[in-house]
Amino acid sequence: MEIIRTIKEITKKCSEVKREGKKIGIVPTMGYLHQGHISLIKKAKEMSDFVVTTLFVNPTQFAPNEDFEKYPRDEKRDTKICEESGSNVLFIPDVKEMYPSGKYKTFVAVENLSEKLCGKSRPGHFRGVTTICLKLFNLTRADIGVFGWKDAQQLLILKRMVEDLNVPIELVGMPTVRENDGLAVSSRNVYLNQEQRNQATILFKALTSAAETLEKFPQTPSSEIVSGIKKMIESAPLARIDYVKMVDQENLEPIQKMIPQKTLIALAVFLGSTRLIDNIHI
Ligand code: AMP
Repeated sequence: MEIIRTIKEITKKCSEVKREGKKIGIVPTMGYLHQGHISLIKKAKEMSDFVVTTLFVNPTQFAPNEDFEKYPRDEKRDTKICEESGSNVLFIPDVKEMYPSGKYKTFVAVENLSEKLCGKSRPGHFRGVTTICLKLFNLTRADIGVFGWKDAQQLLILKRMVEDLNVPIELVGMPTVRENDGLAVSSRNVYLNQEQRNQATILFKALTSAAETLEKFPQTPSSEIVSGIKKMIESAPLARIDYVKMVDQENLEPIQKMIPQKTLIALAVFLGSTRLIDNIHI
């Protein structure tokens, strides 16, 4: 596996690969890789001939009060995981490479969808995500991009951007990889102390319990579903709810009743200062 750090080299490498008629798959990450990321790299390997994994803690998607500085980083470990998972290139640009200081001015934002759910509590977050992803898509000219449904809103927004801006890439979503007790695997889980980690299991428990209710009683109003989830989460003393929403998974608009195949229940919950997200498709 080759490690590339500059725009010049990554564009050169990807042009050569394209010239050979090969399909490129890209897996953008912020590093501190885990089983979730590995599942994406393996999927990209399956669907393309050449996998570029990117490792970049993207400052434009963090607000000044957020965890950009302390976001976990371990380049050596990530390199090993990436190589073992079958990535051909690991692209690790530094911040100045992606956003040359003093002259960088361009951002792309997907209106409306970016302001809902996580966008409400993290203004500007998705503008940073779409900007960096579009830059990475352009640099690699990847044919396929693999993302996790764990960040469902992110994936929907990126799909909208790709369609709206006619970006020649197909985006593929992969199911959320979970710990044995159901907690969604996340780089941010390392922030949790033992007690917070134990109580964090309530997120998925509450989501699955809501899914079971809807399976038995599909007509249950969303207000009841949401309040049931909130009640369960509030039973964990260290949990503080940011939001719990039942929405149409295509436009993220709140719905009154479940729409079969099209319902997303998404939530964000703080444990201490760590904000965790999770969701379930119904
Ligand atoms: P991140 O490094 O957290 O920005 O995530 C990079 C990619 O990995 C995104 O597409 C995420 O949706 C995906 N991802 C993160 N956690 C998981 C997980 N537990 N299961 C599957 N994909 C994940």
